[in-house]
Amino acid sequence: MTDKNCVFCKIAAGEIPAKKVYEDEKMLVFRDIEPKAAVHLLAVAKDHFKLLSEMDGERAELVKYMLCKIPEIAEQNGCKNGYRLVINQGEDAGQTVFHLHIHILGGEILPW
Ligand code: 5GP
Ligand code: ZN
Repeated sequence: MTDKNCVFCKIAAGEIPAKKVYEDEKMLVFRDIEPKAAVHLLAVAKDHFKLLSEMDGERAELVKYMLCKIPEIAEQNGCKNGYRLVINQGEDAGQTVFHLHIHILGGEILPW
């Protein structure tokens, strides 16, 4: 499923440019336009769903697939010494794009 008004669906469809670092049939990883760390990547599933709270078995498989791919992608993109994964869920967390995504932050020692 895609959402024609969703910025990450548009990036996945090539309608909005992004600095892609990895792509396969299920997922895409690209650089955040406003990086919050020396390396700030966003991993998104190509299938559109909004929130962690919309998880079901099929979507959980997709997130599992992304989590299995992320270590190699992070290490190949400047995060050899470690990185932090973040999923913002909802308003209080400051979620601004409602297409589930995993932030990959690293490339420096991260303050907690
Ligand atoms: P959220 O706050 O929803 O967890 O994170 C959304 C992230 O998407 C933000 O860090 C924001 O900078 C990034 N972002 C929003 N629009 C675009 C865009 O058009 N291109 C890219 N590369 N990143 C975007
Ligand atoms: Zn989307």
